Amino acid sequence: MEPVRALIVVLLLVMGLAKAQESYTVQPGDTLFSIARRYGTTLAQLAEINGIADPSKITAGQVLRLPADAPAFQRVPLMAPLEFIELPRDVVQGRAFLVKVAGAVEDASLQLRFLNTRYSIFLLPAEGIYQAILAVPALQPAGAYVLVVAYQGREERVNLRVSAGAYGRQQLTLSPATEALLKPEWVRSERERLVDACTTDNLQKRWNGPWKGPISRPRITTFFGTRRSYNGGPFRSYHEGLDYGAPVGTPVYAPADGVVAIAEPLKVRGNSIVINHGMNVCSGYWHLAKIGVKAGQAVKAGELLGYVGTTGLSTGPHLHYEIRVQGIPVDPAPWYKSAP
Ligand SMILES: [Zn+2]
Repeated sequence: MEPVRALIVVLLLVMGLAKAQESYTVQPGDTLFSIARRYGTTLAQLAEINGIADPSKITAGQVLRLPADAPAFQRVPLMAPLEFIELPRDVVQGRAFLVKVAGAVEDASLQLRFLNTRYSIFLLPAEGIYQAILAVPALQPAGAYVLVVAYQGREERVNLRVSAGAYGRQQLTLSPATEALLKPEWVRSERERLVDACTTDNLQKRWNGPWKGPISRPRITTFFGTRRSYNGGPFRSYHEGLDYGAPVGTPVYAPADGVVAIAEPLKVRGNSIVINHGMNVCSGYWHLAKIGVKAGQAVKAGELLGYVGTTGLSTGPHLHYEIRVQGIPVDPAPWYKSAP
């Protein structure tokens, strides 16, 4: 077969496979309504694209077409008084994701647990639905995991697959002066402060839609998730944010609305700002030359926070920018396209 024709055949096969995934074989006990809910569509739409006049007449084994724009999330039914949980079909190492839970329950008793973290859940009054933002730690091995929905002493388990992210590797050599800054007790106490600043149960979500960039004309020098080896040791840690190369004095802006939780010099991170954006999501800015906000201050997206510098453990002028979900660092890059 000539190469062009072979390519067309391969493309057709791939398209055929993609198409095959957009169908569903009716199982015993299914109703058109339950299938519609599971795939985030409506009974009317499902009936229409399958030419079904009477929705009560579907039979096990029947193959249904799903809407082409079926979202990449799934709805899993839960036991009453809970209704369903909505979550992505696939989650990725080092990424945050949104989970919704519907049901007539008191939020105080509702809990989500995933990979040893208990997540706060927030009620969206307008929708009558609970929302939480969860995170996959960047070093979590890919594989099958369980998300636990706990309610009044009962637990339901939802399977969730973690796939690997595309992260690079970096060997770093630390000078004795730099290593001296990495005193375990300093590292630990700074980390604890960050986690505390990022976990306050009373802040509702303060953003809607994609986040802005923290500096204009961004040039990324180190990506999130880059596996790191120090002085020839094992690749045990990773880069917890995005590094932007920029001259000292470059303005740094808030990427989304929030409240300043930390604005002070830290030993390892240098002049630091942390903003809490609600739903236990916060953003951090390290190594600043100058801090222009105060703790407790509310900031709007696009507001000036401070200026790029090279304070703390830093080898040259740059902005280290990071996002944490309940203290767990996640890749900020996807948030520019769509924040959870
Ligand atoms: Zn960095």
